[in-house]
Amino acid sequence: MIHASLPELRRALDARQISSVELATLFLDRIDALDSRLNAFITVDRDGALAAARAADARIAAGRAGALTGIPLAHKDVFCTEGVLTTCGSKMLSNFVSPYDAHIVGLLKAAGAVSLGKTNMDEFAMGSSNESSFYGAVKNPWNPERVPGGSSGGSAAAVAARLAPIATGTDTGGSVRQPAAFCGITGIKPTYGVVSRYGMIAYASSLDQGGAFGASAEDCALLLSAMAGFDARDSTSLERPAEDYAAALAAPAAARPLEGLRIGLPREFFAEGMAEDVRTAVDAAIEQYRALGASTVEVSLPNARLAIPAYYVIAPAECSSNLSRFDGVRYGHRAAEYGDLADMYGKTRAEGFGAEVKRRILVGTYVLSHGYYDAYYLQAQRLRRLIAQDFQAALQHCDIIAGPTTPTTAWALGQMADDPVQMYLSDIFTLAVNLAGLPGLSQPCGFGSDGLPVGLQLIGDYFGEARLLNAAHRFQQVTDWHARRPAIAA
Ligand code: GLN
Repeated sequence: MIHASLPELRRALDARQISSVELATLFLDRIDALDSRLNAFITVDRDGALAAARAADARIAAGRAGALTGIPLAHKDVFCTEGVLTTCGSKMLSNFVSPYDAHIVGLLKAAGAVSLGKTNMDEFAMGSSNESSFYGAVKNPWNPERVPGGSSGGSAAAVAARLAPIATGTDTGGSVRQPAAFCGITGIKPTYGVVSRYGMIAYASSLDQGGAFGASAEDCALLLSAMAGFDARDSTSLERPAEDYAAALAAPAAARPLEGLRIGLPREFFAEGMAEDVRTAVDAAIEQYRALGASTVEVSLPNARLAIPAYYVIAPAECSSNLSRFDGVRYGHRAAEYGDLADMYGKTRAEGFGAEVKRRILVGTYVLSHGYYDAYYLQAQRLRRLIAQDFQAALQHCDIIAGPTTPTTAWALGQMADDPVQMYLSDIFTLAVNLAGLPGLSQPCGFGSDGLPVGLQLIGDYFGEARLLNAAHRFQQVTDWHARRPAIAA
């Protein structure tokens, strides 16, 4: 059962081969037995999970089950969960029990999904390695000496190690796609505005977007279908009809199912920066897409290389504003000893935030300050517009864009811990997608010379989620990279 796909779990639950309580117990016991080796979870909610599973079993018995009723999942600890510790990987929120549910948490509860607990993450979702968490680094299930990626590293590691069949994540600059790539699973970040940000602790609001992790594109499609949809409580939520991303995958098998699909290969992504073993796997995957009937065309994203400086101005600018709410007054950590109010603010924030979060608040405050605003923040916004225009120009010639998710496979724990700029550079292939607000997916497509997974990134036009998921699904129907498991999940 631990390797079963969501449709297989659905059939087993509906046929009463297993109850939701038994299924939740299976995964909870795996977490108990194995998570000390991975540190993927911050909170395991056994009682809450079993209560939800009992309710799901009653619903199944009453013939009212939906696609996710009784299916266990894990939530990134960036999502507020009523009555359950919600830390965002920070000491600042290490005592915060949320009084309400994030929109997507509520949707998934209503669908009857069973939350096993909250997954570890980089502090306030800032990072690419999960090492900035107050709760300690997460280990990559394929090799415990390597990072799982970040910031949603706990969710990705949990799914890869089969501690949960599916998990939620968020992606501000790659935090779903990059850990999916490093852990050998599938992850999708939809178009900005498709998933509500209500109750998702803000990092950089104009870039943050909830997303889905699963072993396969099909599992991601089922989870995303339950997460997506308009929410009046998020002013950037898009009001459009709900989509069933999984239904789009049901088309009958064909010899060349992707006939007519035009895949753009950005010259700049393939020119430099990709390690040789990543390139070999990505090239082979693109060849496989051709065999499925897709055609390829070279496209250009001339401003893509400017995504790093643009992102690392805009994201810190927004974070410096968003994180001003953590002042020790309303919720979270408060310094035990202080003089006046200003001293309380200062000590609380000095104690509550880790080094990377402080670095970003400082950078963000600097680029927004008088005299630097025009030179940095406004310039970055202009670059953002150019990057978005590049994608629109490229998408005139193709339906989706393909390339690597990351320049290398997962690096060693500690390797970049003292070199933040080096870590920022590793985000080169993912950041531009968030700056443009486009959907992006990462799927496993092979292994590097170190035996660690390689991810293929697919980027779509606005609202192209179904097309991305369909392409990835067709690939997964004829390959088995997504079915490979690390030894810990054997
Ligand atoms: N690595 C990027 C950062 O540190 C992206 C993180 C994310 O998507 N949340 O900001």
